[in-house]
Amino acid sequence: MNPEKKIVLSGLRPTGPCHLGNLAGALRNWLRLQDIYRCYYSIVTWHAFSSEYTNSRTIRDNVFEVAVDWLSIGLDPEKSVIFVQSEVKEHAELHLLLSMITPLPWVERVPTFKEMQQELQDKDINTYGYMGYPVLQAADILIYKAEVVPVGEDQAPHLELAREIARRFTRLFGPIFPEPQTLLTETPRLAGTDGRKMSKSFGNAIYLKDTPEIIRQKIAPMVTDTRRMRRADAGEPNECPVFTLVRAFVSKEQQDEVARGCRTAGIGCLNCKDILIDSLIRLLTPYREKRAFYEKNPRLVWDILNEGNQRARRAAQKTMDEVRDALGF
Ligand code: SF4
Repeated sequence: MNPEKKIVLSGLRPTGPCHLGNLAGALRNWLRLQDIYRCYYSIVTWHAFSSEYTNSRTIRDNVFEVAVDWLSIGLDPEKSVIFVQSEVKEHAELHLLLSMITPLPWVERVPTFKEMQQELQDKDINTYGYMGYPVLQAADILIYKAEVVPVGEDQAPHLELAREIARRFTRLFGPIFPEPQTLLTETPRLAGTDGRKMSKSFGNAIYLKDTPEIIRQKIAPMVTDTRRMRRADAGEPNECPVFTLVRAFVSKEQQDEVARGCRTAGIGCLNCKDILIDSLIRLLTPYREKRAFYEKNPRLVWDILNEGNQRARRAAQKTMDEVRDALGF
């Protein structure tokens, strides 16, 4: 890793394999960033535990699933540190210390908590730990002295909190942490197969590992713009859940063609879905082939993670030595 480059930190909760929403909202961007920055990509197991604590034995399997997806799409362990959060215990220590200097109202005003409560209605996330997850995120970022954090607009308040915590730490104990800057990234809100936001929790996701048959089965019955009751009715693509996927995964030329055809009833929804299905199959087939290789070589995947854990640990331990010194412990 080139020490001249700025440090980036980002992570994903291992609550299942990666889906198209993860690809469009984060992973595509990560691929680009790994050539520009020193990137730490974390499989954030403790964040997963905060909502999956009644089901914690699935987390290890999901770490493997996520790692395989990341490697299959081209995240490169030679360029980036790919690691498992809970294998670097220093995150927990820094989280504990930061939670003691973070005023409660700062955490209470983070707006995504209510949204997550909605999304995870089948889970009891009214816990002390879940409430504090933005502080854990701050620890995840600050422990690597990350200078840049790619976030979508909805996650921006979390990063603002991390910045405020860094400033407060500096005022109290001295300058150890740089204030991480937001790298605002486009995170398109993709519809899942039921028209709601694509999410593992809603069971409406299309996964990177889905076969062409499954992709077809999932997309064919998707609801479309309700104006198009009949083939001859014109529609509005911006009101159609299918078009959120078209916009993210179909070439610009074909998107324009579809949008025009939809508004003039020039194409039917079946044609439109066929175009989407073909594009997705073309995109995902090479990933699935690489995935098959890693699935057959699990030892290789765990070795890559172990190597990443060690690299992350070395950086985190260095920061924690400075933190303990600054606190006078
Ligand atoms: S043609 Fe495509 S964008 Fe238009 S309503 Fe049908 S599925 Fe949606």
